[in-house]
Amino acid sequence: MTKAFSLNVLKWLVTALVLLVLLVPAAQAQLLPTSQSELSIEYTHSEQKLDLETVRNLSASQWSKLESDRASFGYTSDEYWFRFQLENKPYDRILHIAYPLLDELTIYIIQPEGVRTYQMGDTAPFGERPIPTSEFAVPLPENTNGEIYIKTNTQSSMRLPIAVRTEIGFFETQMNRRIAEGIYFGVLLCMAVYNLFGFIASREPEFGVYSLYTLFFAGLMLSLEGLGFHYLWPNSLYLQDKGIPIFGSLTFLTAALFAYQLLELKRYRYTWGRGLMVMAFLSAISLLIAIFASYRISIHVLLSLAVPGCLFLLLVGAYMWRKGFVYARIFTLAWCSLLVSVVANSLGYLGVIDSMFIQRHAIMIGSGIEILLLSWVLAVRYSEQRKERLLAEKRYNRELAESVDERTFELQVALRELQDVNTELEQKNTEDPLTGLYNRRYFQQHLDRELRRTLRRELPLALLMIDVDHFKPVNDTHGHLAGDQILQQLASLMQKHAKRAADIVCRYGGEEFAIILPETDLQEAEVFAKQLLEQVRETEFETNAGLLKITLSVGVISTSARIFDNVDELFKAADDALYAAKHDGRDRVAVQ
Ligand code: GH3
Ligand code: MG
Ligand code: MG
Repeated sequence: MTKAFSLNVLKWLVTALVLLVLLVPAAQAQLLPTSQSELSIEYTHSEQKLDLETVRNLSASQWSKLESDRASFGYTSDEYWFRFQLENKPYDRILHIAYPLLDELTIYIIQPEGVRTYQMGDTAPFGERPIPTSEFAVPLPENTNGEIYIKTNTQSSMRLPIAVRTEIGFFETQMNRRIAEGIYFGVLLCMAVYNLFGFIASREPEFGVYSLYTLFFAGLMLSLEGLGFHYLWPNSLYLQDKGIPIFGSLTFLTAALFAYQLLELKRYRYTWGRGLMVMAFLSAISLLIAIFASYRISIHVLLSLAVPGCLFLLLVGAYMWRKGFVYARIFTLAWCSLLVSVVANSLGYLGVIDSMFIQRHAIMIGSGIEILLLSWVLAVRYSEQRKERLLAEKRYNRELAESVDERTFELQVALRELQDVNTELEQKNTEDPLTGLYNRRYFQQHLDRELRRTLRRELPLALLMIDVDHFKPVNDTHGHLAGDQILQQLASLMQKHAKRAADIVCRYGGEEFAIILPETDLQEAEVFAKQLLEQVRETEFETNAGLLKITLSVGVISTSARIFDNVDELFKAADDALYAAKHDGRDRVAVQ
């Protein structure tokens, strides 16, 4: 884990600690003004609905003494009756029942002048309550004494923490309670909004799912605490009735989806991922049941989903933790925090742990820590993934650059090879196949270049046009092959005679040749031509028809003697000179 990671742990743990520190004194302060020990409460219950008269006439043996301060009877459809004697006090008091989930609650205060009746419970609109609190409270004015009967039934778990408090005592319980709840729901709301922003900014679905999870969980807690009825839906008896199963189902649905995304089960273990999907599906069914069926059915469906669901989430987290998946560790701790608080809360209600503080605040603290831890793991995971993505991007760019270099190199090699082939092709293109001399095409290009250079440098350029004399009869007499052999030998003879590197010998066509002699004036060119003629005259060409002799006619020109404006003029002059040599009897040099 990185340094930033551990820094984050610290930050979030401090937040959780602050939350705890704020909640503890608030909760402890609440414990002070109880006055339950003064009360001697008796209770009875019946499957039938009874009226006050019947209950008042029950024999003493039908009443049991309430042993614990906090009545807790689990899920029951029975109607419960409680009674106790209220002592006379010269100040106003409040009868306080600090449990919000009672469907029906009727309080009878038996006075000499008559019976005062208060009908409450969350099947009646919130506005009808004599004292507006999410729990239940009725005023006991000064000098109220006599018997008090309480009738109640509920589809939720039957609990009845009965207390008679002074007005100030009651006010303190409410204030402390509201501060604790304010902090708790404030944290939940912050996390919901914060992760919603996370979702909007990053488009990562787990932020959105988590934001919803937090909201639904807050909805569940608001329903459980009776605060939703107090502040958010005071007139919706439907929501007050169905809030717990509806928000509970939604909470499990989003929890399963969140775990699915966070733990990347699709990548690691497919079956567990499918298990989570099944859990999400069952939660959706539970939601439908919550919407359409009665509370009694839907709460049992939800509870039978909740226990295996929570254990499964814990198991998945633990499995991934063992696999070494970093985020699973925090996920599991977060779930443990919630589950431990739920278990502690249940033990508190069952009387195994005798602490009012645990009863009232365990779930708030446990779930508060859970919500903070999960939000933290989400943020850490996102930043780690971003870092990974950036690294991968960098690596990719580097690899791309490397492969581009490689390709460029390969391309350069290919280009060089292509150039070589091209050069070879060009050479073939400029070569005469029979003699290996330059061809007419090359001659024309080269003459053009040479003439320009000559003009630039003011150096002379000579051109010789050569034609074999009476070559047709040679072919006719000795055959075409002999003619070819003569042309080949003549070509190499001329090549040898043109010694300088810049001299170019070309086959112009048929038995006609041209020689370009740069930096050569007319006299030098004439000498060159005469020596060539001499050599050819003396040469015996070896052919398949025996040794044969030929002569040449040569037309010579040079820019040293005349100015030529272009290649055509130059060429024509040389051709004219050749014609003159032919005309003058052949085997000679004509100079123009
Ligand atoms: P002159 O130039 O002296 O006037 O007479 P000539 O017989 O050489 O002239 P002409 O232009 O009438 O004939 C050229 C001959 O050269 C025609 C052809 O038989 C021969 N010739 C041209 N190209 C080739 C070739 O590539 N191979 C062979 N064997 N003969 C060729
Ligand atoms: Mg000819
Ligand atoms: Mg000829």
